[in-house]
Amino acid sequence: MPSIKCLSIQVDPRDNVAVVVNAGGLPAGSVLDDGTELVEQIPQGHKVALVDIAQDAPVLRYGEVIGFARKGIARGHWINEEMLRMPEPPALDDLPLATRKAVEREPLEGYTFAGYRNADGSVGTRNILGISTSVQCVAGVTDHVVGRIKRELLLRYPNVDDVVALNHGYGCGVAINAPAAIVPIRTLQNLARNPNFGGEVMVIGLGCEKLRPQRLVAPPSLPGQETAQTVHSSILSLQDERFSGFNAMVESIMELAQTHLEKLNRRTRESCPAADLVVGMQCGGSDALSGLTANPAVGFAADLIVRAGGSVIFSEVTEVRDAIHLLTPRVIDEETGRALLLEMAWYDDYLSRGQADRSANTTPGNKQGGLANIVEKALGSIIKSGSSPIVDVIGPGERLRRKGLTFAATPASDFICGTLQLAAGMNMHLFSTGRGTPYGLAMVPVIKVASNSRLAGQWFDLIDVDAGRIATGDASIAEVGWEIFRLILDAASGRTLVAAERLGLRNDLVLFNPAPVT
Ligand code: CA
Repeated sequence: MPSIKCLSIQVDPRDNVAVVVNAGGLPAGSVLDDGTELVEQIPQGHKVALVDIAQDAPVLRYGEVIGFARKGIARGHWINEEMLRMPEPPALDDLPLATRKAVEREPLEGYTFAGYRNADGSVGTRNILGISTSVQCVAGVTDHVVGRIKRELLLRYPNVDDVVALNHGYGCGVAINAPAAIVPIRTLQNLARNPNFGGEVMVIGLGCEKLRPQRLVAPPSLPGQETAQTVHSSILSLQDERFSGFNAMVESIMELAQTHLEKLNRRTRESCPAADLVVGMQCGGSDALSGLTANPAVGFAADLIVRAGGSVIFSEVTEVRDAIHLLTPRVIDEETGRALLLEMAWYDDYLSRGQADRSANTTPGNKQGGLANIVEKALGSIIKSGSSPIVDVIGPGERLRRKGLTFAATPASDFICGTLQLAAGMNMHLFSTGRGTPYGLAMVPVIKVASNSRLAGQWFDLIDVDAGRIATGDASIAEVGWEIFRLILDAASGRTLVAAERLGLRNDLVLFNPAPVT
């Protein structure tokens, strides 16, 4: 049998485990670089003990404790999730805030993309007519109208890329005045202001719903952020007495759409600095290589965007909670640190009210991919944020306030996180995956980065970047990071269509509604 090169990665010299990198895993008898001999077959992405680990001793990865051995584990053995007892999450009342001095980094100058400049200063990467809805009842009608606009109108407006209905499950049958209702309501308000809609907001309502359509175009909650003139809104209610039958409604919406399409069609791309990028970071279907390949490369690209003066959003509270002690030193000041801790505490409480805890996050696929628990997943997940200081923290559905790296508190659910990042003002989305997901959004380009080359090969037309080359030594984190950065500029300019756009893959918008449903 020809000998194969045994590939494994030990991230930190303190780690007592390494992760097997070879596609298909490694058979018993394989010998790693440090002399560890595998006593059993170990799948790709899974951990092998590099030393004898005693019962109750800590198991370290990324130089951090990911669990304690339930029983003694001998060197060369596979460590699966059942062999680890999960540590407690870091307490929130005694963490260092803003203690890490930011490293001065050379600004990155001269990188541009072709975008659509808006009146409020934001920049779109696509030119889309967004049709907002105030209640789910109208979704059938908006879907029908979007189909007709695409077939009958869009050809006449060559500068407009698309028309998208912002359908959702909110608006009525909900406790509209409950304190937590602010989350879905401001999400809908801010979604309509996404830079890719160019300040042209069209709202379709029903007429009797609790969420009044006017609220969706209400002035932004942050004074001074925009002036009233930067958003052109029109509202149409289906119960309006002037409509006799379905066709009358549809024709009226089509007419309204035309007035907005005419304005959008006058938008043209112009050269914009990379500082106008607002890039949302997310991961989904992670495996143990995600934290070694895709997420470090995404984090490298995040640092490049920040150095270029742009904005980066990272999120997913349940996937940062267990690594929060690594983030609080990175906040820019104590006030931002306290805001970060408040978001963690809010989510701890939210989960405990639902009688769940953070361990509910990991999926069977995560575990098959080698992630033992949420602690290990979180340590690999926060690498997406790169190493820049955290300049701001925003709540779910709030709009971005500052350039640089912002933590936007969201659930880790791919669709809810994506929806909330769209509301924050994201104009490009980076999504890393190990197990593989065909994730895509209608409103912004989504660049999908695979953590392993097996997935990138199998899903050759669904994945945009293969970061698995980092594990095999065929590319460095910096090389893949630069590749992602350049792809962001090309995709933002419309020069390159990402896989999800080419294939027409679009997941639904999903609102986060922590308030009661009635
Ligand atoms: Ca996610």
